[in-house]
Order: sequence, then C-alpha cells, then structure tokens
Amino acid sequence: MTARVLDGNAVARAIREEVAPGVAAFTATAGRPPGLGIVLVGDDPASHVYVRNKIRAGMEAGMFVDLQQLPATATLDDVLGVVGRLNASDVHDGILVQSPLPGAMGREAERAVFDVIDPAKDVDGFSPGNVGLLVQKRDCLKACTPAGVIELLDRSGIAIAGQRAVVIGRSDIVGKPMALMLLHRDATVTVCHSRTTSLASLCAEADILVAAIGRACMVTPDFVKPGATVIDVGMNRLDDAATVAALFPAGSKKREQFEKAGSVLVGDVHPDVAGTAGALTPVPGGVGPLTIAMLMKNTLQAAIARVAARA
Ligand code: NDP
Repeated sequence: MTARVLDGNAVARAIREEVAPGVAAFTATAGRPPGLGIVLVGDDPASHVYVRNKIRAGMEAGMFVDLQQLPATATLDDVLGVVGRLNASDVHDGILVQSPLPGAMGREAERAVFDVIDPAKDVDGFSPGNVGLLVQKRDCLKACTPAGVIELLDRSGIAIAGQRAVVIGRSDIVGKPMALMLLHRDATVTVCHSRTTSLASLCAEADILVAAIGRACMVTPDFVKPGATVIDVGMNRLDDAATVAALFPAGSKKREQFEKAGSVLVGDVHPDVAGTAGALTPVPGGVGPLTIAMLMKNTLQAAIARVAARA
C-alpha cells in the first residue's frame, strides 16, 4: 500500500481563497483592513522564516500586517510593553508573538506574554481565556496548527467521529489543543508523551495518529495500523550527514535533498510509513501551510468580532 498524500498546500490555498472575500467585505464596511501585529524577538533563523511567511500571507490576503521587531537583548518587559500597545490599538485585530522567545527571558516568558494578550486579539489561541473556552467547547480563537489539522481531515473526507485517535505530544500549543479538538469531534482520544510506555503498540491502535513530538522520523511503520491516517506536525531540520545517512538510504529523496542543500527538513514521521498508512501528510507541504492559513482565518474572525462587539 502507498498512502494517499494529504496535500496541505492545496487545502491551505482553499482556506485562504475563502478568507479573501471576507477581508474585502470587512475592509469595505470598517474602512480599514483587518490588522495583524506580529512581534518578533531576536535572531532565531527559523522564526524569521516563519514570520516572513506569515507577513507574506497576510499581505496577500489584503490585511494590514505590522511587524514589531525587537533585538535578542530585549527584556520581557519590553515585549509586554509592545503587546500592551497592540492591545490598546484600534487597528490591530490580532496579535502574534513568535515563539520561541530568547532563553534569557526565562522559562515562563511565553506564558507571561499569553497572559497579557487581549483574548479578543489572541489569534494564536494560546491565552488562558481562549484555552478555557476551548476546553468547554465554546466559541473562541483556536490554536492554528491543530485547527488546521481538523480542516485538513474534514476537507480530505476523513471521518473523525467514532475513530480511535492517538496524539503523540502534550504541548500547550499543539498536543493538548489537538486532543481536545479531536475529542470535541467525537473521536476517542489517547494522548501520549515522553513517559508513555508501550508507545508504538498504543499508536498502532489509532485510526488517526497525530505526531507532534519534535523528534526527526521517530514514528516508524511499527507505530502505524495498516490504512490509518497519519498527521505529521513535526518540523525538524537535519544538518548532520551521519544522522541523515542513518535515517535515509542512498538514493532516497530526503538523502538527495540533503546532499544538494546541506540540510533537509523532515517530520516526526519516517517516510517509510507511507507503505503502511492509508493517508499521510508530507513534510514540507502538510501541516505547515495550514497553520498560516488558519492564522489568516483567525485574524479575520477577530476583526469581525471586535467590530461587532462595538456596534
Ligand atoms: P514540544 O517540545 O513543546 O512538545 C513535544 C511533546 O512531545 C512533549 O509533550 C513531549 O513529552 C513529547 N515527546 C518528546 N519526546 C518524546 C518521546 N520520545 N516519546 C513520546 N513523546 C515524546 O513541541 P511542540 O508541541 O511545540 O512541537 C512539536 C513539533 O511540531 C515540533 O517539531 C515543532 O517544530 C512542530 N510544530 C510544527 C508546526 C507547524 O506549523 N507544522 C507548528 C508548531 C509546532 P513531554 O511532555 O513528556 O516532555
């Protein structure tokens, strides 16, 4: 069996095309486009790439995108100050603070930021208010990556209700909200983490397996029930020849990409899983583009809700 490839780029494009008329209608009635403030702190190269892609998507969607860039030496108070200004601004409907914040700000820095972002502008869905609403299955701004996975499953015709779902990872930004969203769609959900025993055999019971681990190619065919849907959230850049050689045989696509570019982007799922799974998201081109599309959708939703709340 060769798994059907779930094309995140195509689904993301469809979502963004649906958002565009909403942006035009909002702009016409509000007299300004939906506004997204992005706060980027420091020099992390991956963060700069993610932010560039988000800015491009926002501008293509016709939004006002405002990048607030701070040096790596900025303090947590500096970041909270920028967030405070964006909270108070009338033209910023959404606020996104790109993770990770510099380590020097301390382990609780991101939580401190999510605590102060106005929940009505929290387009990442990470603030305690929105997380609480999600737990209670109430209307809220939902975390973009797991929300994108649900869109991908729905638009690919993959049933969720009644299915056995296993999520590997319990982070606040992916694993936990993913598990809740699957639960709210009536899947029977198991959440696994680094202390889970018999991980592979548990995963092999899943009809839908979501990997959000951050460990290159950890999910191998023995984790996968034949015919299962496998969603690979992981994004890991490998730049070590020995690691790449151990994971991918000579002549394989990933190995060739590495040899050409000196590094290669891989997921948490080994490509060999395609021989067992029924459907599989590629990396790149799977979950990543959906995260950005859902950010656009959330920003429009926040803009509409803010204007409606004032009417
Ligand atoms: P975190 O590091 O916050 O969480 C990783 C989770 O994986 C933790 O719950 C951890 O368990 C679990 N884990 C780690 N090692 C193992 C193991 N050996 N066995 C079982 N579970 C394990 O990562 P994130 O949730 O932020 O991100 C996960 C991945 O998704 C990363 O590769 C990230 O780059 C990617 N990502 C991709 C996005 C996209 O748009 N495509 C968006 C966001 C993230 P424990 O809690 O016990 O430590």
